[in-house]
Amino acid sequence: MGSLSGSYFDRALQVIPGGVNSPVRAFKSVGGSPLFIQSAKGAYLKDVDGKEYLDLIGSWGPMLFGQAHPAIENAVRNALGNGFSFGAPSYNEVLIAEKIVSMIPSIEKVRLVNSGTEATMAAIRLARAYTKRDKIIKFEGCYHGHGDSFLIAAGSGVATLGTPDSPGVTTSTAKDTLTAVYNDLASLEHLFNANPSSIAAVILEPVVGNMGLVIPEPGFIEGIRQLCTAHGSLLIFDEVMTGFRLSPSGYQGLTPVQPDLTTLGKIIGGGLPVGAYGGRAEIMNMIAPAGPVYQAGTLSGNPLATTAGLAMLNLITEHPEIYPELNRKGEYLAQGIREQLWELNIDGFVNQIGSMFTLFFTKKAVKNFSDAKTSDTTKFGIYFREMLEQGVYLPPSQFESWFLSTALEDAHLEHILKASRIALEKTIQ
Ligand code: PLP
Repeated sequence: MGSLSGSYFDRALQVIPGGVNSPVRAFKSVGGSPLFIQSAKGAYLKDVDGKEYLDLIGSWGPMLFGQAHPAIENAVRNALGNGFSFGAPSYNEVLIAEKIVSMIPSIEKVRLVNSGTEATMAAIRLARAYTKRDKIIKFEGCYHGHGDSFLIAAGSGVATLGTPDSPGVTTSTAKDTLTAVYNDLASLEHLFNANPSSIAAVILEPVVGNMGLVIPEPGFIEGIRQLCTAHGSLLIFDEVMTGFRLSPSGYQGLTPVQPDLTTLGKIIGGGLPVGAYGGRAEIMNMIAPAGPVYQAGTLSGNPLATTAGLAMLNLITEHPEIYPELNRKGEYLAQGIREQLWELNIDGFVNQIGSMFTLFFTKKAVKNFSDAKTSDTTKFGIYFREMLEQGVYLPPSQFESWFLSTALEDAHLEHILKASRIALEKTIQ
């Protein structure tokens, strides 16, 4: 008898492009057909066929405290009686803005939007208006949502002008996005020198989650800051994944380097749709209605989303001890998998920082997108499917970070390691 997930997917394929509302959910790169999730609680996802999985997707980042944490659930339950959307200001918007400003020192003013994509699109519009320049620089392999300006491939060389990564992105849009190589300051410097006084901003994931997890080499982020300052360009940290996950102040809490603008998402909605961008007041005051740069949103600052987000941020400030604990768990898993790779003589690299990590099936240390692309994605597919069989739900792509939550207890980590050993053995059969 077929599974319910299978039959739902067949129906979905008739009415939703590719059967899913976001591409990576379709399991295209790992094979098989996606599971439909019925419910989620703590460390577990439960599918419509009743099977439970340890959740290492964490909704792609927001579930820092596991699924449906009681504090967030109760806050949303209590807010339900007050209505769902007002189209007028609500006090929660002030509270969450004050909270974000108090937690991230580089943010003096913040604007709420509905997704990470909206946040990055608005941030570069603002940077362009502020600097009166058109071009932006991004790094190959960094993902900043699906705004046209960000769907640009690197081409073959760092000096190459962008070419659209998706049909529908015009070449005239693409020409304003230049791509540098992550962890390669010389590639960035070259772009600055080749485009004098034309770079509005450099945007990057300071720790990258979207080519699989890649960590900045010592001096890389400092060097970017220096180049931006020297050339009069804004530095934008896209902390949609790392914000509040790597520390209460995101990646910015781990370094003295401060960006001019920051984009946020995911965690500040506690699982409901939210994004935000913020930075120095002098720049943020250019946003309408304070200034001329237009950006708006019917559902922005939605009362339910801000309720969930506030509950999440309160949990974070009340429990700073989660960060060393998550790091301990991350290190334990990463080291356990490294040992398994070594024992089974499998080519692989594990990158880890805090509660984010990725196992790459490659011989090469992964420091940029080209390194990541040397991974054996067929092996990853075998590993992914066996992990699923063993009750562990990984992000269904080699080029994603895995996300740990505080709901994962030591017994869960043992389960993951046991599953990993079986899955790794499968990759060499
Ligand atoms: N920026 C980063 C770093 C992301 O990881 C993502 C999504 O994964 C986005 C932006 C886009 O966010 P959203 O999917 O909420 O539009």
